Amino acid sequence: MSENEKKLSGAESLRKTRTYGKFRCHNPSCMGRMQPAAGQKTIKCPACNMEFRMAWVKPDFPRIRGPVWNVNREIAEKVRADKGAVPPTSKKEKK
Ligand SMILES: [Zn+2]
Repeated sequence: MSENEKKLSGAESLRKTRTYGKFRCHNPSCMGRMQPAAGQKTIKCPACNMEFRMAWVKPDFPRIRGPVWNVNREIAEKVRADKGAVPPTSKKEKK
């Protein structure tokens, strides 16, 4: 009997240590996990380096408001350049 009680309290303590303030990267091809520090205004995904703006609903409850567009555009352009894609301006040379 006391054994069952121990198991119950163990489950309850697990619920208490539940981490909030973690979220998945909003980049659909990444889905990396991010954990912000309290009061942080932007967060960078450690996996794809995209940056997101954050809002704090409560002091311990952050939410992603949206991506930081200029940072993410730079990353996307860099990725494209690394892949050796032809820049759109070169099409003008075609007769
Ligand atoms: Zn990511």
